[in-house]
Amino acid sequence: MTFDFSAVKALAAPAWVAERAGAFGVEFDASDIEKLGTFLACIAVANERVNLTAITDSEQAWQRHVLDSLTLMGVLADLPEGARVLDIGTGAGLPGVPLAICMPHLRFTLLDGTAKKIAFVQAACARLGLKNVDAVTGRAEQLAHDIGVRRDFAGKVTRDGGYREQFDVVVARAVGQLDTLAEMAVGFAKVNGVVALIKGAQAQQEVEAASKTLHEIKVVVNAVAATPTGQIVILEKRVATPRLYPRAERVNAGKNKKK
Ligand code: SAM
Repeated sequence: MTFDFSAVKALAAPAWVAERAGAFGVEFDASDIEKLGTFLACIAVANERVNLTAITDSEQAWQRHVLDSLTLMGVLADLPEGARVLDIGTGAGLPGVPLAICMPHLRFTLLDGTAKKIAFVQAACARLGLKNVDAVTGRAEQLAHDIGVRRDFAGKVTRDGGYREQFDVVVARAVGQLDTLAEMAVGFAKVNGVVALIKGAQAQQEVEAASKTLHEIKVVVNAVAATPTGQIVILEKRVATPRLYPRAERVNAGKNKKK
């Protein structure tokens, strides 16, 4: 599937966007706003052909796509230049694209199991001229086991590529229940990395329901933090994830759970 966004014009930002973002410490420059508006316009155009979002109202799109995504900026704020962030189940590029626009010094990998959504993300990022985004089609529970290619040179063993333990921070929004999502996410994070998940009103209950899984995958709950648009669950990975995880059969079973 191909998209042509060459004629797309930025969606105007309501006056309250900068003020609401400022309330949680985000300062835009003019080109950020222009790019965020262009990204929303790309979603609106593509949504006529691919089911990307149920949100069609412009003000709702700024609030629920842009501001909600940017609530993760605080978690990413101290990462050094070139640090790597993975967005699992990115869909239309959320939260990954708004974060990549506002944090050009970080490198983002946006992952989704649906090829046409990734085709959209690639076309939108090309229209925006974003150089810090790599969009990949694949299943998280499979790629989390990809350890790359082993190289043995002069007695020194290294690994090229792969996804396991490659990311400083792993993020996701609206990708199932916390227990299965945390299990999918943790293998991608480096030791001493972080998993930061945008969640809704039930975040604390989801953390409690996931306690057995969180113990098994050896992560610690750092915070369940309220944001202006919802809640973020922050998990710390202090030791390597046992090789067994994520278990494909568990992740797939999670899809059928009642929400
Ligand atoms: N994160 C986006 C957002 O907040 O708007 C999209 C959320 S959408 C409800 C869930 C997305 O996760 C879908 O695009 C789906 O294809 C993707 N997804 C679900 N399970 C996945 C998996 N195991 N691996 C990769 N992508 C997955």
